Amino acid sequence: MKEFWSPRIRDMIPYTPGEQPQGQPFIKLNTNENPYPPSPRVLEAVRQAAAGSLRLYPDPESAALRDAVAGRYGLKREQVFAGNGSDEVLAICFQAFFDPERTILFPDVTYSFYPVFAGLYGLSWREVPLDEQFRVHVSDYRGSGGVVLPNPNAPTGLALPLEDIQALLESNPRSVVLIDEAYVDFGAASAAALVGRYPNLVVVQTLSKSRSLAGLRVGFALADADLIAALECVKNSFNSYPLDRLAQAGALAALEDRDYFQQTTEQIIRTRDTVIPRLRALGFQCLPSSANFLFLRHPGTPAKVLLDGLRERGILVRWWDKPRISDYLRVTVGTREEMRALCQALAELTAGR
Ligand SMILES: *Cc1c(COP(=O)(O)O)cnc(C)c1O
Repeated sequence: MKEFWSPRIRDMIPYTPGEQPQGQPFIKLNTNENPYPPSPRVLEAVRQAAAGSLRLYPDPESAALRDAVAGRYGLKREQVFAGNGSDEVLAICFQAFFDPERTILFPDVTYSFYPVFAGLYGLSWREVPLDEQFRVHVSDYRGSGGVVLPNPNAPTGLALPLEDIQALLESNPRSVVLIDEAYVDFGAASAAALVGRYPNLVVVQTLSKSRSLAGLRVGFALADADLIAALECVKNSFNSYPLDRLAQAGALAALEDRDYFQQTTEQIIRTRDTVIPRLRALGFQCLPSSANFLFLRHPGTPAKVLLDGLRERGILVRWWDKPRISDYLRVTVGTREEMRALCQALAELTAGR
């Protein structure tokens, strides 16, 4: 086995994505997808793009999409990079900005793709422990060879204020600080406002969560034009067309429909803020969330029992058998009806415990 594998990848352990069940009608609260469909304007734009010109290659520069992102954040096209989902954008950032001779830092409890990217590109990294309450202390990240931090953090949902992001940037002046804002639209301040002031800042965002487009695969990075040029250099050495015509057209339409985005995002935030007290009343400890998911535990019931019991009741959530977090479940905020079903099932599973 693995006889023909490159020695570089023989010992690699890839990232495991959350389950995408085929067929069964589960209530899917395991991968932080948006419970609402994308804006109707997205479907219209995708239909038109499909009817029009699939015969032709897409715009390799994703110019219209990058202009729309730039417009939204008061930046220029040269300060925006677009990729096939933010996972791809993050992978390209790891390849473009980090030096194998210097150690990059990220929290011990965070998005588990980061060590996989670091391994893929032969980078060394150190996990910086979060405190007892899962909080990030930015003073733990001084003088590194690079910092990668989601804000809000995943899977905890805790957000940092912009002053902390600024402190990180200032205490790592010779390294890139990568802020992964996959969940920023659900209640954190975006560091996009700092692009232009810090030449070492990269902000990565996605249309998968707050724009309901996980299936379209669109993410982007915001940074100084010199850093964006490095991302373009890696991308153009690998794939000229990471974003197909449907993705570019759909993403552009999603960014343009700001009312729909605001309505659906606000609804998710309202649902989140009503479900947390209900879960606490059931005896759950639930971290305050600035994201579209909850991170919770029940002192009397092992997380694995809850995971399996929810699955039997048709509800999928996420659990990791990992140090520090194996007592916890991560639960996506769905519709109000889905959250009612969740609370009902959790009430049954914890009754008398
Ligand atoms: C979901 C998620 C991503 C990836 O999003 P895609 O754009 O769908 O690839 C990146 N970072 C974090 C922390 C996420 O939770």
